[in-house]
Amino acid sequence: MTDTFVRPDWTPLDLPRAEQSFCVTNGDRFDTTDPTTGEVVASLTASTLEDVAGAVERARAAFGRRGWRNDGQVRCRVLFRYAEALRANRERLAELLTREQGKTLAESRNEIEGSADMVEFYAGLARSTYGRAIPVGDDAHSVILREPLGVVGVITPWNWPVVLLMRALAPALAAGNTVVVKPASLTPAVTVECLALLAADPDLPEGVLTCVLGSGAVVGDALVTNRHVEMIAFTGESGTGINVLKQAANDLRKVSLELGGKSPNIVFADADLDKALDGAVNAAFTTSGQICTAGSRLLLEDSIYEDFLARLTERVRALRLGDPLDPTTQMGPVVSRSQQTSVNGYVELGRAEGKLLVGDDLDDTEALRQGCYVAPAIVTDLPRSSRVVQEEIFGPVLVVQRFSGEAEAIEIAEDSQFGLAAGIWTSDLNRAWRVGRAVSSGTIWINTYHHFYPEAEVGGFRQSGLGRQQGLEGIHEFTETKHLNFDSKSTLF
Ligand code: NDP
Repeated sequence: MTDTFVRPDWTPLDLPRAEQSFCVTNGDRFDTTDPTTGEVVASLTASTLEDVAGAVERARAAFGRRGWRNDGQVRCRVLFRYAEALRANRERLAELLTREQGKTLAESRNEIEGSADMVEFYAGLARSTYGRAIPVGDDAHSVILREPLGVVGVITPWNWPVVLLMRALAPALAAGNTVVVKPASLTPAVTVECLALLAADPDLPEGVLTCVLGSGAVVGDALVTNRHVEMIAFTGESGTGINVLKQAANDLRKVSLELGGKSPNIVFADADLDKALDGAVNAAFTTSGQICTAGSRLLLEDSIYEDFLARLTERVRALRLGDPLDPTTQMGPVVSRSQQTSVNGYVELGRAEGKLLVGDDLDDTEALRQGCYVAPAIVTDLPRSSRVVQEEIFGPVLVVQRFSGEAEAIEIAEDSQFGLAAGIWTSDLNRAWRVGRAVSSGTIWINTYHHFYPEAEVGGFRQSGLGRQQGLEGIHEFTETKHLNFDSKSTLF
């Protein structure tokens, strides 16, 4: 490990640029910083409360002009071109994403590709938000329509800021809504740069896409409480999501919530253990553990516990931390100093309440000290009630739990306030089916982990969320169902 990272020069971006009129920002200046080096990535202007109100008005007026909401062909073409633009700009956007968020360049490239794929999927669906005709008798006709809602507010987190934006933005637009985006304050530059590609499309009507910037407590709250925002699509922490839901409940507006997790990854003794070992590392440490679906609780069956843990410990110790722009790096920093402090707090608690097997050994180099690095950690022997077992840490900390037999595996997996994802590793498909049916999670991977498809719905049980994104349900969330009934009799009664 070198003492400092040698990186290509960077001139901080000054955003939003003059041509980016889809951003409504007249407030204070703020910077985003690179969690690897602490250098400024971009200087931006925040939105004021008046800006948020103006952005919603602009989106409302665009919805009222009707063209966009009634023309699936235009929406389809605009979104297909957007997917291509994201792909064509992949390298530039991936580098910016890595600088602003800290994930490895390979992960950033995947995120931009995945985003393009998501947009493309919903581009196709923009032409097929079909309703249906219902036979209600000789003298009457009924038609069920799926109509757009109006203005949708999309609020996003910083961990996968592009793909999580696209999985709400693309179906919302495909369904004919107009959208106001409020990105996370730690990753606004990459969001603005991605949105600029869409805003540049000559067929995107004025006001269909608007972006506001600034803190969640002020700008986010102003968007959520604006009664002209017909729906809020929120991705973030469970606590913040619950508040969003309460605010929207005041005037009964629609909310979709994609929230936190503490996902169990269950390895049975009959599994392909080499594959399960790869899966356990990927599940827990991708993006330094900052993934809502992270397999942050590893459940190991008694008979394989010691051996598997020994191999896992060796693998985790060998993970290469470093500059995420360096292609040999396997784990970058966490996103910010405050995230680093919060994760380190859980590591200390794990050490006090259980056994810290790995997690003490961050190379003491200037480069790692300067960045927001956290050594990947494994903690065992914790009581099930420990905060380290129960709470979402959102960092590279893996809790390992031991079980004996299927029933206990299910019981431990279910002992959680969350229900976002789970992994099951076994060669017995009947067992996979039984356990898969018994575990309350929105996504369950069998003999794999962290595979996402735009076609497949995601979402949470319990405090992991409300509603579903992606797939067909993902576009239906952004529509309202309407029944039109025609009577063709000559008299009414
Ligand atoms: P937060 O809940 O802190 O923030 C999410 C977004 O909400 C940010 O844009 C934030 O703005 C904004 N916000 C904060 N307070 C308010 C408010 N009062 N009203 C309206 N908006 C507000 O989450 P993080 O950004 O820290 O993201 C990490 C969390 O997201 C984890 O819990 C993770 O599990 C979850 N997540 C869930 C996913 C899922 O699919 N279920 C996917 C990815 C992440 P600001 O940045 O300015 O604070």
